[in-house]
Parts: sequence; structure tokens; C-alpha cells
Amino acid sequence: MKKDDFINSKKKHHRIMAFIGILYFIIFTGLGLNLNRIRHFIYYYYPPGINVHLTNFIIPLLYLLIMAMILGVCYLINKYIASQLGLICRYCKSNLTNAYSTQIVISTKNCGHCGKQILDDEL
Ligand SMILES: [Zn+2]
Repeated sequence: MKKDDFINSKKKHHRIMAFIGILYFIIFTGLGLNLNRIRHFIYYYYPPGINVHLTNFIIPLLYLLIMAMILGVCYLINKYIASQLGLICRYCKSNLTNAYSTQIVISTKNCGHCGKQILDDEL
């Protein structure tokens, strides 16, 4: 991989992850601000005898659990996109998408984790 290809791949990865981040933020705030509405919806449809104080505790907990699960999925998507774009070291399989690793690769052509050469020599 040449240096320009690596930089372009990194930019593409950044754009995709920024889009996913914005999407996550919209879901996080959108769902979080409507928790009360969801609680009322459950009160309306849930059979009688439900412990109201328990749902007040469980619904926010469920919300945080779901958001944590989505965050985990985002992490896996990040790894998948990085591997598709060639932003994974082919020797030690380290992720080269964070700013620190990217700067090391661009400036030295070597992986910042194992030190082996990743980028091709250019004349
Ligand atoms: Zn490496």
C-alpha cells in the first residue's frame, strides 16, 4: 500500500465512523429524552399488578444496556471497516485507525505496534 492510499483509506474510515457516531448520538439522545414516553406506553399496555417503582429503575437500566450493546456493535463495525480498508497491520493485526497509530505509519511507514514495514517504498 502506498502512502496516499493509506491516507485516503484513513479519511474514508474517518468519514464513515463520523457518520455512525452522529447516528449513535441521535439514537442516544432521541431515546434518552423519550424514556418517560416509553414508560407511559408500557404502563398503558402492561397487565395490571406491575411494580411501578421497579419499572422506573428497569427502563433507564435497559436503555443504558441497549446503548452499550449498540456501542459494542459500533466497535465491531469499526474493526470490520478498518480491515476492509487495509487499516489493520498485516503482521500483528493491530488496528491502525486511531490518530496516534496513523501518524506513526505515515511518518515512518512502519507499524507502531510491531515495527514492521507496512507502506511501500516510493521513489
Ligand atoms: Zn504491526
